[in-house]
Amino acid sequence: RAKDQGRNNYRFYAPTMNMRGIERLELENGLRYAVERNELVVYYQPRVNIVTGQIMGMEALVRWEHPQLGLVSPGQFIPLAEETGLIVPIGEWVMQTACRQNKAWQEAGYPPMHVAVNLSARQFQRPGLVERVREVLAESNLEPQYLELEITESITMHDVDFTIATLRELSNMGVLISIDDFGTGYSSLTYLKHFPINTLKIDQSFVREITIDPYNAAIVTTVIYLAQNLKLKVIAEGVETEEQLSYLRDHECDEMQGYLFSRPVPADEFEKLLKARQIIV
Ligand code: C2E
Ligand code: MG
Ligand code: MG
Ligand code: MG
Repeated sequence: RAKDQGRNNYRFYAPTMNMRGIERLELENGLRYAVERNELVVYYQPRVNIVTGQIMGMEALVRWEHPQLGLVSPGQFIPLAEETGLIVPIGEWVMQTACRQNKAWQEAGYPPMHVAVNLSARQFQRPGLVERVREVLAESNLEPQYLELEITESITMHDVDFTIATLRELSNMGVLISIDDFGTGYSSLTYLKHFPINTLKIDQSFVREITIDPYNAAIVTTVIYLAQNLKLKVIAEGVETEEQLSYLRDHECDEMQGYLFSRPVPADEFEKLLKARQIIV
């Protein structure tokens, strides 16, 4: 169908526009083998309490250590992975790795905290997701409340009944659900009422200009109030400056995630952050 093709073409070229054609082809071929060849790695970025600076959790973010290209960011290969369907095995591998790592840290004696894993629309719409999540939890021996699944508003667009049913199953299992990049999608506020959501993550595009653009500041403040009134946890993404942090603190945002505290880091470096967890922001 022409419409679908048009969309696929767009998704194929958009993320890799600035790359030479040869590199794009290499990416597509290489991605197929990346999981088998152990070229994918999971980085972790801390989520910290905005008042105390205490690490409250972490987000698992995939990276690809390409033998020739070096570290490839997910922005460059996730869209390709979605288009080819490779996102399904990649996403499962990330979830499995993140759950095992989280359990290992708990067993090493660090305070239990949750790990957030990103779910793409394609993973979400595929039948069997709920069973797969259950299997990963059982296999890693991680209690469900320590896994948070990050979905975007685009997921909710397709089939609302299916979305509600799937989210309820996950939620009944004990898994937490957050809306990632909140405010950048096309969905209505109605779903916040019907979906079993725990957390809103304010997109970094709003946070970035919080101290210079009153319009973005107003959006951020409003999302914080919305979350408070709906009894949801609210997290600001992409916090890079002290000014942004103090604005968010003044407006009672719960947690923050951003370069100001830490970039996403490999597991061994994240463990160092856990060891020094009394860091005050
Ligand atoms: P996201 O889930 O919204 O993740 C946040 C992104 O913001 C990450 O980019 C993170 O490195 C970046 N970030 C964090 N703090 C700051 C900051 O202070 N300043 C700036 N400029 N950026 C910051 P990353 O790791 O490149 O990931 C990009 C996107 O790729 C993610 O956005 C997510 O949508 C997707 N992604 C990453 N890992 C996975 C995965 O395992 N599965 C799926 N389906 N998607 C993934
Ligand atoms: Mg995310
Ligand atoms: Mg985000
Ligand atoms: Mg994003």
